[in-house]
Amino acid sequence: MANIQIDELREKLDDINLQLLDLINERAELAKEIGRVKKAQGINRFDPVRERKMLDLLSEKNRGPFDTSTLQHIFKEIFKASLELQEDDHRKALLVSRKRQPDNTVIDIKGEKIGNGGQVLISGPCAVESYEQVAEVAKAVKKQGFKMLRGGAFKPRTSPYDFQGLGEEGLKILKQVADEYDLAVVSEIVNPADIEMAVKYVDVIQIGARNMQNFELLKAAGSVDKPVLLKRGLSATIQEFINAAEYIVSNGNTQVMLCERGIRTYEKATRNTLDITAVPILKQETHLPVLVDVTHSTGRKDLLLPAAKAGLAIGADGIMVEVHPDPAVALSDAAQQLDIPQYEKFVDDLKASGLFNPAKVTPSTL
Ligand code: PEP
Ligand code: MN
Repeated sequence: MANIQIDELREKLDDINLQLLDLINERAELAKEIGRVKKAQGINRFDPVRERKMLDLLSEKNRGPFDTSTLQHIFKEIFKASLELQEDDHRKALLVSRKRQPDNTVIDIKGEKIGNGGQVLISGPCAVESYEQVAEVAKAVKKQGFKMLRGGAFKPRTSPYDFQGLGEEGLKILKQVADEYDLAVVSEIVNPADIEMAVKYVDVIQIGARNMQNFELLKAAGSVDKPVLLKRGLSATIQEFINAAEYIVSNGNTQVMLCERGIRTYEKATRNTLDITAVPILKQETHLPVLVDVTHSTGRKDLLLPAAKAGLAIGADGIMVEVHPDPAVALSDAAQQLDIPQYEKFVDDLKASGLFNPAKVTPSTL
């Protein structure tokens, strides 16, 4: 008996659900129509005064059993969904999202393709210190068959008294060495005003963790035709990271790579905590290549190889690692840079792991 009663009540509930469905969609059609009229008149679609009036009317007419705050909550969701319907498409899905572009973005850096299935290794010193220092690393990078040479000319140091980098002079050294060894330069720029100058010297503009939300820098990098390697902020969420990339892409530059470099947590065993699952999340949520910086995430030489293997295994498009001819005398990050024999062993071990599928490099047209 009781079951029959429940069935009847459920049937009525289903009926009401369907009525609500029709009504909500009818309301959505009206909201869209209002959106079109507002657009034609150039009026802002979000109208808080009108929302307040609708909420007031609902609370005045509410006879229960729902209390007014619950109903307001439900109606706020309906208002929000209606507003989203009125907004242009770009407000719904970010340009960097997979939803917007299902195919991978593939970036061609002097013949080396990133994001195309093959994996790249970006290596070089933390900071550019001299021509000889960079050239020695470049020779080792070239010998391993890699294309990308990193080096910091502008160093965003925690202390203002630490080595700040050689500036434009450092970029000149990088360019000279890269030309001699037919390599591509990745170097960090920290000042929006330097972007125009930097494009003469670098093949990839790096935006560092400390500048991930330097929106003027992101906009400046977005306005040039040069690949950008964007690093995750020290304590940035994945959503903030993705939005930072959107700043660059929405300003016109679609050649953006993301780099997970560890985030700040309470853990002290490593310099930062490598958020390894950020890689597949970023690959799913965006169409951009994703790299893992094993040096700044771990800060430990003994963890570079396992972290690199993990990065490749979980789907990264490449790895970044710091190499210095004599790390003990390096002007920054002395403890965690590999020397050249260690670098060669690192590469050999990575290749032997079976996890590394190096990107094909087509001969440079230089
Ligand atoms: C760097 O790659 O040189 C660097 C400073 O790294 P991050 O911005 O990730 O700290
Ligand atoms: Mn460093």
